[in-house]
Amino acid sequence: MHHPPTFELKAFVCPHCGVLAGQTWSNTIQCQYQYMQPNGSSHPAMYELENTATAKCSNCHAFSIWLFGRMIFPYKGNVEMANPDLPMDVMRDYNEAVDVANISAKSAAALLRLALSKLCAHLAHHKTLDENIEHLMKRGLPKELEHGLYKVRCLGSHAVAPGVIDAHDKLEVAFALFSFINTICDYFITQPKKIHESIHNLPK
Ligand SMILES: [Zn+2]
Repeated sequence: MHHPPTFELKAFVCPHCGVLAGQTWSNTIQCQYQYMQPNGSSHPAMYELENTATAKCSNCHAFSIWLFGRMIFPYKGNVEMANPDLPMDVMRDYNEAVDVANISAKSAAALLRLALSKLCAHLAHHKTLDENIEHLMKRGLPKELEHGLYKVRCLGSHAVAPGVIDAHDKLEVAFALFSFINTICDYFITQPKKIHESIHNLPK
């Protein structure tokens, strides 16, 4: 379950270290400067930034900056990080989508449909995404995920081809695609790997 950074939430997945960690909130950002007097002398002075907040991660101690309840730093902090088990070429498209998601959701969605079709081809080795999904369904891909792939128009009569920019794509579509790619990777790569490692570590 992804707990994205949310304004004033006591804990969320840190945009820096990726760990679900407690956050210490402050709604004061103080700026210090040298106040110049007419006689040429100066003294230290201070002002406070309004409508801002910071959250400090209890795990890595890095902070995020918020303006009017929206995270402005790090600028890609609200995006789900890639499952580290993604194949390299899929990971490259995924991370490129992370970089552009908040600037251009349409570009991110196009990259993510491409990443998704590569991931499914990597897992099932058929020609088309439809064939690959059908294959993965037989191997246990949850029905809900297939339904989700219809909703974000990777499947079905309104499907958008991988890598193609579509005017209807919003940030929520990109967020769903990030999540679906990570879930498919978790189901078919990460979980079997974990089980294999556990078996390997059993006493002989
Ligand atoms: Zn952190």
